[in-house]
Amino acid sequence: MKVLELRASGFRNLETLRFSPCGGLNAVTGENAQGKTNLLEAMWLFTGGRSFRGARDQELVRAGAQEARLSLTFFSGGREQRAELTLRGGARQAVLNGVPKRGMAELIGRFCAVVFSPEHLSLVKGGPAERRAFLDSALCQAKPSYAIAYARYRRTLNQRNALLKDIARHPELEDTLPIWDDRLCRSGAVLIRERHAYLERFAPRASAHYAGIAHGREELRLTYEPSCGGDMAESLRRALREDIRFGHTSVGPHRDDIGIEIGGMAARLYASQGQQRSAVLAMKLAEAAVLAEACGEEPVVFLDDVLSELDGSRQLYLLSSLSGRQSFLTGCELPPRALGGTAARFLVRGGAVSPAEAAPDEAEPAGAPGEALKEAAAPEANEPATAPGEPPEAAELPGQAPDEAPAETGEAPQSPADGEAPGGTPEESAAAPEAGEAETAPGESPEAAEAPVRAPDEAEPAGAPGEAPEPPAPGIPEICEI
Ligand code: ATP
Ligand code: MG
Repeated sequence: MKVLELRASGFRNLETLRFSPCGGLNAVTGENAQGKTNLLEAMWLFTGGRSFRGARDQELVRAGAQEARLSLTFFSGGREQRAELTLRGGARQAVLNGVPKRGMAELIGRFCAVVFSPEHLSLVKGGPAERRAFLDSALCQAKPSYAIAYARYRRTLNQRNALLKDIARHPELEDTLPIWDDRLCRSGAVLIRERHAYLERFAPRASAHYAGIAHGREELRLTYEPSCGGDMAESLRRALREDIRFGHTSVGPHRDDIGIEIGGMAARLYASQGQQRSAVLAMKLAEAAVLAEACGEEPVVFLDDVLSELDGSRQLYLLSSLSGRQSFLTGCELPPRALGGTAARFLVRGGAVSPAEAAPDEAEPAGAPGEALKEAAAPEANEPATAPGEPPEAAELPGQAPDEAPAETGEAPQSPADGEAPGGTPEESAAAPEAGEAETAPGESPEAAEAPVRAPDEAEPAGAPGEAPEPPAPGIPEICEI
């Protein structure tokens, strides 16, 4: 999975641009408020997810503009593909390989990525809803059918909650409750089962990454914490009187949590800033690993402003674990020695993106990212679980959890209708890559066709058409607009 080109117009503060990153590490620097995060956000939207900053779509359109247009050319499933996105009046329109899509959910699984942004630190210290959202989003990418099960559960939950409120006024309606309880238990069981299965794959990888990042100083332990012990139907029955009183359902997967312990202590209460950051990074790296397995391709990795707070050896671990993937790192300054000689550098200034050369005095050795740091870092007694420079056995990080409605207020999820294949229609999957496609995407404003911004010393991005095709993506990943 590789981004070949992003085009944007009318998106936040970004100038109309064509941005062609390299297939490896892309270092994006610039002063504060210049548009670095906006650049990542523009690419991220093609996962089908919402803004990883929690922004509403209206906020993504440049102030004073009617619409934002984005187009992403990417290499996946052994071929070049193109997705287009128009944001207008709070709605999104998506086109994939020339075929208009009914909703963003149909993009899910086509372009897979993981993102770390400073907001994600709340995964450790924040409330259970944030951890559930992380888990649900990760699952939607790794297993698209989960999105359907999730939507079904949320819908049933909303209906049950509405009924609970009505029962307070019309007690006779209580007779109809067992129907909803039964449906809720059945759809809830799917969520609980899938979450357990996901954690079985995810948790050991996250622990291994944490050990690598923290040099084995303490252990990260993740466990699924259900709100009902074993029998959901029985838990619903026990909570019924209270639930009618408050008009909401107090037990079920919408109340479950992921327990995070570091060194045997609850991270939410005791973790230091550095431990939180390390834990979130480890979780993101693990999420990417599971996603890579599920979709048969490495997801693209977006790391927004992550390096500045990490010490040298943690930077080393992180950068070495990016090997083999296309990744984007932003920061006001990025430690030149950490990046190695192969990173493509870009400067963002006033919403414009331009190639940037390494400063002459940086005198970087050629080599993989992290190599220089590796030499600089004192050899540690406890080496990272993965040798520096090697891709970690468990991959990377990612995905943003879909903004989940507050536990009980029960916002109706926007997700594929029941029975709808989240990965897109068969005819679309069969859509041939547009052979003689026009230079400018259909409907795209002509200004967008500017001279592309290319990685300085890269004629053709890795993974470009004509190269050995990557293995087709068997699974379907995705991040979900639930
Ligand atoms: P930092 O280093 O502080 O994280 P950044 O380079 O990542 O900065 P961005 O978050 O990408 O900065 O934001 C860049 C600018 O985009 C900000 O000044 C912000 O006000 C502006 N901006 C955000 N949304 C819009 C919009 N809809 N229209 C116009 N400008 C916007
Ligand atoms: Mg930023």
